[in-house]
Amino acid sequence: MQPTGNLHIGNYLGALKNWVRIQNDYECIFCIVDLHAVTVYQDPAALRRKIEEIAALYLAAGIDPTACSIMVQSAVPAHAELSWMLTCVTPIGWLERMTQFKGKSGKQESVGSGLLQYPVLMAADILLYQAGIVPVGEDQAQHLELTRDIAQRFNSLYGETFVVPGTSLPAVGARIMGLDDPTQKMSKSAAGQNHAVALLDPPAAIRKTIMRATTDSNPAVDFDNAGPGVLNLLAIYQAFSGDSDEAMKARFTGMRYGDLKKQVADMTVAHLEPFQQRYREIINQPGYLANVLRQGAARVAPIANQTVQLVKERMGLYVG
Ligand code: AMP
Repeated sequence: MQPTGNLHIGNYLGALKNWVRIQNDYECIFCIVDLHAVTVYQDPAALRRKIEEIAALYLAAGIDPTACSIMVQSAVPAHAELSWMLTCVTPIGWLERMTQFKGKSGKQESVGSGLLQYPVLMAADILLYQAGIVPVGEDQAQHLELTRDIAQRFNSLYGETFVVPGTSLPAVGARIMGLDDPTQKMSKSAAGQNHAVALLDPPAAIRKTIMRATTDSNPAVDFDNAGPGVLNLLAIYQAFSGDSDEAMKARFTGMRYGDLKKQVADMTVAHLEPFQQRYREIINQPGYLANVLRQGAARVAPIANQTVQLVKERMGLYVG
C-alpha cells in the first residue's frame, strides 16, 4: 500500500483483511510502497510519518511480523534497480493505456514521468520475489495484467526468468464504492467529508458518514432492484461479517434504509474500535515499528538481490 492519505475501509476490506486471512497459507511479503507515493509530490516529513502509520495499521489488522515480512520499498534498492530493467522491455503504449494513469494524469497540469512508470515499478515489486499470487482490490487487476505481460515479454526475450503471478481478489469487498457517490471507487485522494470511512476515524465520525450514505429512492432493501449505494452498504456489511449470501438476504430483505445504515455502522465500529486500540498500543511502543521494518527488509533483500543478479546475467549486464 502507498503511504499517502488515510487508509479507509476499502483498503481494509479489499486488501488488508485478506492478507491477514492468507498469511499462514503462503510465504507472505507485505510492502509499504514509498517510491510509488513520490510519483506525485509528498511533503517529506508527512511521508516519513505515514510510512510508520501504515506499518502500524498492518500490524493492528493482525499481520504477524514473525510469520510474514513487512518492509518498506525504498529500504531494498533492488526494487528501483529491477524497475529500470523492466522499463526497458515495456512499450510506452502499454503504460498510456492504464486506467489509473489516465485518471491521475488528467487531473494535473504537468505529469511527472514517474506516474507513467508507476505500474513498471509495481511489476518490479512483484517479480523481484517471484511471487505466485498477489492479493489486491479490483482497481489493481489491470496493473497485475500488465505485470504478467511484462514478465512474459522478458521471459520470451531473455529466457525463463520470472514466475508469472496470479491475481487474488476477495469474493466480497473487492471494490468498495464512495459513500457519497457509489458510482466512484472509495479513494484516499477523493475530497469530501462523507466519501470514505478512514480506519482511524473516531466511532462517532464513522457512524455519521455511514448514516449519510447515498442510497436510492426505494423505501427498503430489495436485493433484485437495489441501486449501487445500497449494494455498497450490503457489501461493506458482508465483507466485515463474512455472512453468506443467504444469511444476508434473510437479514436485510425488506429492511428500511435507516435501519440498514445503522447495522452497517454498528458492524463497522465493532470491527474498527478494537483495531484502533491495537494501533495505539503499537504506535506507543518505542522502537518496535523500526525493528519490524528493519527485520522485514533484511529478510527479503537476499531474495530480491538474487533475482536482480539473475536478470543481470540474462540481459548480459556486468556482474563482476
Ligand atoms: P492504494 O490505495 O493504491 O495504496 O491501495 C492499496 C490496496 O487497497 C490495493 O490492493 C487496492 O486494490 C486496495 N483498494 C484501494 N481502494 C479500494 C476500494 N475502494 N475497494 C477495494 N479495495 C481497494
